[in-house]
Amino acid sequence: MAYNKIETFDEKVTSGLVDHYKECLELLGEDSEREGLLKTPERIAKAMQFLTQGYQQDAREILNGARFTEAYSEMVIVKDIELYSMCEHHMLPFFGKAHVAYIPNGYITGLSKIARVVDVYARRLQVQERLTHQILDAIQESLMPEGVAVVIEAQHLCMMMRGVQKQNSLTTTSAFSGQFQDGTTRAEFMKLIGK
Ligand SMILES: [Zn+2]
Repeated sequence: MAYNKIETFDEKVTSGLVDHYKECLELLGEDSEREGLLKTPERIAKAMQFLTQGYQQDAREILNGARFTEAYSEMVIVKDIELYSMCEHHMLPFFGKAHVAYIPNGYITGLSKIARVVDVYARRLQVQERLTHQILDAIQESLMPEGVAVVIEAQHLCMMMRGVQKQNSLTTTSAFSGQFQDGTTRAEFMKLIGK
């Protein structure tokens, strides 16, 4: 499966989803046969498969496939990684930025691989807290660095569009391992990502 797009959709999954989304439209009071909606169930079916393709991907495999021996032992930071995910409670999007750092212990990985790991876990039904920890765990277990730091800042459409309708609230989650549990190292990281 390609990283950025699904080339071929599983026909059985797609047709099952199409039937269900057609029924959803009817239950919501729409006429699923009207012109503008005719292809909508199929579009949703494909969009949903795209947005949940992370279930078919393995973050550890991505990291282990691009693990290089390197003596560099300073903090490596990838900041402002665009993030799009869906909350598992409402299946509505949440989106924002992830900032990831690690301190190598003999191994480094390609910087783009860190961004891919974020996508692998973001393209599933998620809660922001679990997403944060899954990214940390995958990097910690694959690269065995001296420490990993993950900070995610995101806006949740389920909060913005419904319920409390808080338009500007930003949810921040963080997870730290190893040397980042030390206050000084953590403070250095937070400063470098502008927090
Ligand atoms: Zn939600």
